[in-house]
Amino acid sequence: MSNLELIPCPLCGNHSDFESLNINYKDEHISNYGSLYAGSQKSEWKICSQCGFVHQNSRPSKEDLNLFYLTSSYHRGIPESYLLENGKHYIEFARWYYLEKIQYAIANSNLKTPGKIFDIGAGFGGVLKIFAQDLGWQVYGVEPDTYLYGYAANHLGLSSIQNTILDSNTEIGDQVDLVFSNHAFEHFADLGQVMLGIQKILKPGGYIFTAIPTYYKNRSDLSLQWMNSAHYSMFTDQSINQLFSQYGFEEVTHTYRGWNKEIDDLWHLARFTGIKTDPQVFYEDSSKVKKYINTINPINSIINYPIYSNYAEKIKAINIFKRRLRFIKNNIKLLFISPKSALSNIKEKLFNLFNKK
Ligand SMILES: [Zn+2]
Repeated sequence: MSNLELIPCPLCGNHSDFESLNINYKDEHISNYGSLYAGSQKSEWKICSQCGFVHQNSRPSKEDLNLFYLTSSYHRGIPESYLLENGKHYIEFARWYYLEKIQYAIANSNLKTPGKIFDIGAGFGGVLKIFAQDLGWQVYGVEPDTYLYGYAANHLGLSSIQNTILDSNTEIGDQVDLVFSNHAFEHFADLGQVMLGIQKILKPGGYIFTAIPTYYKNRSDLSLQWMNSAHYSMFTDQSINQLFSQYGFEEVTHTYRGWNKEIDDLWHLARFTGIKTDPQVFYEDSSKVKKYINTINPINSIINYPIYSNYAEKIKAINIFKRRLRFIKNNIKLLFISPKSALSNIKEKLFNLFNKK
């Protein structure tokens, strides 16, 4: 017997009126959840007819899901390379993965740096390590998974992360300027408790940055695969605003095209004004949402696939090409002004190229 329950819409509280979504992808994660989904082959996804929010329903109870994360059943183990040289390999990866998001959050919030930051779902600790080590910020965070928490605390020396889930009971003895969350909101079983936790730890006037997978303005079929048992919510800028407006947060900016390394994720920055506003302003039309997911999203995937498959590698190659082109241009100019320095630049470049390995 599985332990699934039909829940009210997590955003608007509508109890009974839902549109079903048929997702034709295998649910790769469901077997990890053991008895929680016993008897089911895949998770069930619904659109709320009242507000258009796309979410997993029926699903395991909040208590079962929180316990599942706290018993570290979601992530398994630590990659061996992360344990070498005091986490140097992981930190390099983290800079590549997070730095643009961090810069986006800081630039658009006009926050003075260094400040104080809290990371929800700190994972291996990469974001906080960059903030602490590279930017000099005071860092806090939560990570429910014991392995990930242990790595951040023991290998990266991040002693101010708590091994728990953010809720209204969370105490950090401080208030921060920025709350950061990268691919975490789709995992939260209890959005209301998370928002209460954020209200408590964030200074009035502070900011929250959220990066989340989305089905909207997609460039691949990833978003449909994301509707699996590991996630409970698929946000758009409208639905995240619908949630935030109920807790006194106002959007500053968002983008669906933030990162040139990965696709189909929404970046969103909001400010904590403390003033609750009408969430209905952000309701989406459920029949349009259904049409988008069933028709427009798959067409977007087909059109965009040739361009955006292996996007990170393509961007890397283009950047190397651009850099070389710039080098050639500059040195051709230099040849006329100072042939000696141009030749020495070229020599050095060739030396570096051949000695790279
Ligand atoms: Zn709803």
